[in-house]
Amino acid sequence: MSHTEEPKHATSKGTVTEYSLIRVNGTWSRQAGPCTHGHGQGQPSDAKIYESFNGHGVTWTVVSPIIFTYRVVECEKLLDANNDTLLFGHIADPEEVQTQRNNSKPLRRLVVIDETVNDLYGGQVVAYFKSWKVVYKLLPLPTTEENKSMDLVTRILEEVHRFGIDRRSEPIIAIGGGVCLDIVGLAASLYRRRTPYIRVPTTLLSYIDASVGAKTGVNFFSCKNKLGSYTPPVAAFLDRSFMKTVPRRHISNGMAEMLKMALMKHKGLFELLEKEGRRLLDSAFQSSDVINGRGCTDAASLATRVAIVTMLEELAPNLWEDDLDRLVDFGHLISPELEMTVLPELLHGEAVNIDMAFMVFVSRERGFLTEDEVQRIISCMKRLELPVWHQQCSEELVQNSLSARLKHSGGLLRMPLPTGLGRAEIFNDTENTTLSQAFRKWCAELGSGR
Ligand code: NAD
Repeated sequence: MSHTEEPKHATSKGTVTEYSLIRVNGTWSRQAGPCTHGHGQGQPSDAKIYESFNGHGVTWTVVSPIIFTYRVVECEKLLDANNDTLLFGHIADPEEVQTQRNNSKPLRRLVVIDETVNDLYGGQVVAYFKSWKVVYKLLPLPTTEENKSMDLVTRILEEVHRFGIDRRSEPIIAIGGGVCLDIVGLAASLYRRRTPYIRVPTTLLSYIDASVGAKTGVNFFSCKNKLGSYTPPVAAFLDRSFMKTVPRRHISNGMAEMLKMALMKHKGLFELLEKEGRRLLDSAFQSSDVINGRGCTDAASLATRVAIVTMLEELAPNLWEDDLDRLVDFGHLISPELEMTVLPELLHGEAVNIDMAFMVFVSRERGFLTEDEVQRIISCMKRLELPVWHQQCSEELVQNSLSARLKHSGGLLRMPLPTGLGRAEIFNDTENTTLSQAFRKWCAELGSGR
């Protein structure tokens, strides 16, 4: 077939012509069929345009694959003046790093930092930027769950605008827990439609969860993360030493998301949490006991690494959540409504854990978990000081949450359930009677009135 001959294929709705796109001397043009230009004769695109005609006119269907690349970097001493990760760790090409280091123009960074984190680490952040002669603006904000709204997003955007950021070379830096990272991510996704940003998580929950994926968001009309985007950062820099000042309850809170990954897909992580979980909680993940000789030297780094890798495995192929069958939704069917109903009583991970504890009972009711497995899971949760039941998690709330979920997921309720320790599947056939039975037993066995 010659270049000019157009490949067509008939569909039930008419004839469709596929066009590739190629750029020659700066101009993109369409070319019927697959790209046939050899090397040096133009730059092909992965995008396609499909053209079809019918009695009313023409339809062009654009298929444009978008690739996101981001780095999740585990490192030590992030705020040490000798460590350049915070400034250049998002750049993969060493030559580009060298070019930026040699540039005579000072680097500029706008840093949004959680107020509490600023009290604890703001001095070190300032000293770091001064030592690198960076022109910086440090913006401490009260990034709490109650304040997780568009107001703070707007506040950040105003400061970004005033600071006059160069969106190609001056990523916004967010330092704080999941709330701070989510709010800054949303602001960055809006400013000039997408401005690069960097996440520096300072809580366990944000270290293993909120930092590693693409989601940003704020609460809206009392609905959890109702406004948001799928915009990954250019990089997340993970330094476990921030956790040494995290209150015990918040360490436990983060361990709920870790336990989620363990229950869904990693028996080894579950066993590690069973055995070492309490010690990890006591030490705020600062322990350094050698438990193997393969570079992963202690329980804290092993647990966090497994949690991150298992999470990345689930997120990377489904960054925009087009596929609604998501194991990582375990613990997230009922918890958003519960968390918002009792705000600020329960932390995010605590609400997730209550949801998971109930679902464990649903699994047992369906015959997927043995009594012994259920007891091991619930004991592990309790040892991690996580709540396993809540007065306000009523059967009505459960039903309402699941109905709302059903509405938003194409009429099919996808329910990830453990089918063993470290094994899970997604089910869409859980009967209401099963849910009611499980609920009754859950309250009887774990409820405060038992
Ligand atoms: P958080 O951001 O509210 O932080 C918890 C508390 O710890 C805050 O009071 C904060 O000031 C304090 N803090 C933070 N770092 C500290 C430190 N190093 N030392 C002492 N205190 C410190 O809560 P979180 O648990 O980190 O995150 C929860 C949020 O994350 C929720 O809003 C949830 O929706 C979101 N989240 C997002 C994703 C995602 O994929 N984007 C995933 C999971 C959770």
